[in-house]
Amino acid sequence: MSNQTSLKNNLTSEKWDALQSSLLGLYGKDVYTSWLQGVTFNKINFNALILNVKTRFIRDWIVAHYADKILDLYKKQDSNISRIEFQILERTETKNPKSNVIDFEKKDLVQDSGSYGLSKIDERLVFDNFVVGKSNELAFAAANRIIDNLNKYNPLYIYGGVGLGKTHILNAIGNQLLKKVDKVIYVSAERFMYQFVRSIKNNEVVKFKDIFRSAKVLIIDDIQFVSGKDVTQEEFFHTFNALIESGSQIVISCDRPPNELDRIQDRIKSRLSGGLVVDVQSPDFEQRVKILKQRCLKEFHASERNIIIDDEIINFIANELKLSIREMIGAFNRIAAYLNINQRKISVAEAKHILRDSLNKIHTNITIEDIQKTVVSYYNISMHDFMSSRRSRSVARPRQIAMYLAKKMTTKSLPDIGRNFSGRDHTTVIHAIKKVEELMIQDKNFENEVKDINGKLTKSI
Ligand code: ADP
Ligand code: MG
Repeated sequence: MSNQTSLKNNLTSEKWDALQSSLLGLYGKDVYTSWLQGVTFNKINFNALILNVKTRFIRDWIVAHYADKILDLYKKQDSNISRIEFQILERTETKNPKSNVIDFEKKDLVQDSGSYGLSKIDERLVFDNFVVGKSNELAFAAANRIIDNLNKYNPLYIYGGVGLGKTHILNAIGNQLLKKVDKVIYVSAERFMYQFVRSIKNNEVVKFKDIFRSAKVLIIDDIQFVSGKDVTQEEFFHTFNALIESGSQIVISCDRPPNELDRIQDRIKSRLSGGLVVDVQSPDFEQRVKILKQRCLKEFHASERNIIIDDEIINFIANELKLSIREMIGAFNRIAAYLNINQRKISVAEAKHILRDSLNKIHTNITIEDIQKTVVSYYNISMHDFMSSRRSRSVARPRQIAMYLAKKMTTKSLPDIGRNFSGRDHTTVIHAIKKVEELMIQDKNFENEVKDINGKLTKSI
């Protein structure tokens, strides 16, 4: 390696470290330690960022869930990078699981005070700071019923969109139940899968099962992540049955109702629906304002200097950031930080300026179907050909554009997008996005076409 390349790679490795901390902030500790912390920088090769991962499984998981976000973030630091590749450092000893040279994995298993890498219940997420309104009163009532009367509904299944308070409710239930039950386990489904796969590799499956099966209350967050991988589903299902049969309470959250979990076996779905299924919805304006006022109070007590946020600003935030409480609170925190530093009142126009990134991001409700219809009519091709497996450029290109726009304009994951294009693989979607990005750089006309379609979509809503 020439000196120059090695210097460049050193600098880049710093960029990677910086990016790692953004990932921690973005996804939280649980996801971060499960999947992303162990990813290390390898090198830059032309326009590709090459990263090291420990196993094939982790690579697949990252590609399916986080790779595109990592790429987006990395591009902000270095716009030359247009793709990510992974180098798998699978150790030879994984072929021989009896070998005892796998310390680095053991260490991970027993972090969090020997609790087998389970997530801790977050003491800050309690019902005292949970604002109840129309959007979540059912879930709140159901939670209280099981707190008072375990097994009343088993499992209790709470579903709803991102950032609407599911994790908060689950932790609040956990915090309440810890007062009266000794073995409460809270785990995100991601963590469950990850630890399970590790326990197989470390020959510790029995221990893994024992820990879960000893729970009096098992709380599983984001169950949509238990999918694919048949062994893990199978294990999940057995654990689940064993617990219900032994009278333990299960509480589950998910981003969708059980019947819409498309890659989970039917018998698991019907088990999941066997207790009580309730949803949380987006809060209305009044509830959003209440949540923000509660935050103001907290901010007021926490800050050394008194900061007061005008109702006008609160109403503005509550009005603009409707879809996710998490985003709304994020926006609020930015304003609060600004006020804390600058110590003066701000106008709505200034607030708008401070929040410009989050405000632009809200892309309304464009669906993949809207995108497909618009692209098909723009290029005047038939929907049938468009969705078929034909590869001639006249349909393949529009298909790639539609995939690209689906990634840009919706919040769907790569595998989800693939499925909406007649069950294509997520790698096909990645390829399409790359292709469109390349062509947009090379060919001005092409770029204009994509922008045109983008414009039509945003105008139609
Ligand atoms: P989800 O798990 O549904 O994605 P979270 O539970 O992580 O959402 O909620 C996102 C943020 O919004 C958290 O900071 C949470 O404390 C806060 N939050 C959600 N719902 C409420 C509520 N009803 N009252 C107060 N804060 C809430
Ligand atoms: Mg959550």
